[in-house]
Amino acid sequence: MTTFRIGGVHPHDNKEYSAHKPIVDVELPKQAIIPLVQHIGAPAQPVVQKGDKVKVGQLLAQAGGFVSAPIHSPVSGTIFKIDRAVDAWGMAMQAIYINVEGDEWDESIDRSEKLVPDCKLEPKEIISKIQNAGIVGLGGACFPTHVKLMPPPGKTAEVLIVNGVECEPYLTCDHQLMLEHGEEIMVGIKILMKALGISKAIIGIEKNKPDAIQHMQELASKTMGVSVMPLDLRYPQGGEKQLIDACIKRQVPSGALPIEVGAVVDNVATIYAVYEAVQKNKPLIDRVITIAGKKVAKPGNFRVRFGTPLSQVLELAGGIPADTGKIIGGGPMMGRAMSNVDMPTNKRVSGVLLMPKEESVRKEVQNCIRCAKCVQACPMGLEPYLLSKQSENQMWDAMEQHSIMDCIECGCCQFTCPSNRPLLDYIRMGKAKVGGILRARAAQKK
Ligand code: SF4
Ligand code: SF4
Repeated sequence: MTTFRIGGVHPHDNKEYSAHKPIVDVELPKQAIIPLVQHIGAPAQPVVQKGDKVKVGQLLAQAGGFVSAPIHSPVSGTIFKIDRAVDAWGMAMQAIYINVEGDEWDESIDRSEKLVPDCKLEPKEIISKIQNAGIVGLGGACFPTHVKLMPPPGKTAEVLIVNGVECEPYLTCDHQLMLEHGEEIMVGIKILMKALGISKAIIGIEKNKPDAIQHMQELASKTMGVSVMPLDLRYPQGGEKQLIDACIKRQVPSGALPIEVGAVVDNVATIYAVYEAVQKNKPLIDRVITIAGKKVAKPGNFRVRFGTPLSQVLELAGGIPADTGKIIGGGPMMGRAMSNVDMPTNKRVSGVLLMPKEESVRKEVQNCIRCAKCVQACPMGLEPYLLSKQSENQMWDAMEQHSIMDCIECGCCQFTCPSNRPLLDYIRMGKAKVGGILRARAAQKK
């Protein structure tokens, strides 16, 4: 078996609804709302004010620190206001509102579709371009990409692992991106290898995407040092630590980052964005997202400028089916229920799942029967039943001792529990609490 060693589950992949649907461009909104927090790290700081005219690609907000990312305008128009907005999950944050006028791009951006295969830039220049373009991990974490390209002293990158796994059920945007933009992704891989000073890259793709495997293998055969590794289906293979284990059989220790074992992991959508930033001078202003669900009239893969209301994209997919019980941002395993689809898409949103009522009703919770299925399913070797109970009882110190911060919130434990216990809900709540305690402790030491 070519996969990771510990835990994991096999949910139905449900990819058939949107797989192989060509990427469709979504029309521009009348007003774009651009949140200043679209990444892990410090919020971006606005450099524009009310009344300013902006073009597509123009800087709106600069990075708030090293672990942060700048934000660029996805539209052209006039800054209407900088004000509070509540995102699709109910989180309040500062945002820049732009009244859209036409579609005028910054002249420095190359908008042609011509492939630019060669990159003459030095590694430092590449990293600087990626940093200035606001590139963050589009696989879900939104970690600023330039940080991964600058290993801390004493650590050396040996291999780039390209995440083309897309193990989350329903989502197909990365699959379609590999089919339609494999050449650009391959150039992006070469650029990242140059930036890291390494000669080896492995593209991990699960075997339910045979056409993507074949296409990327053909391209890799013409690219020195790059290979494709077809992987057996197993969720959450797209997790960084699981993918490293599957591809190079190295295990990242608890609390450590992939660079500890010489690996840097980047998702295919991120690498496509790297290509556009370095070769086309285009900052991160859009992405491809999947809209899917069993009752969705026209599911598909849509290229959407950030700031566009999700409701506009859902309309293109045929609207929200009448019997929808839950709207989930992301997929069914790691996604979160949304409360407001009028809010805009941003770097964090990889897809929307419209779940029918009959599937969204939670089954009755029973007592834990100590079957240990959740322990067997946990890919991080944790004890989910225990962590959940500790969180319920607010035992934050005990949770820290039982490595709660290693939890990747994959949901395997909850998926596998025969007693339908809301393990992930409690674990997420506890992890957020312990994370806050750890950050406060670290700040006190400074
Ligand atoms: S959500 Fe956390 S505790 Fe549950 S299986 Fe995943 S990693 Fe383990
Ligand atoms: S899978 Fe559910 S019932 Fe089994 S030990 Fe874990 S929490 Fe208890």
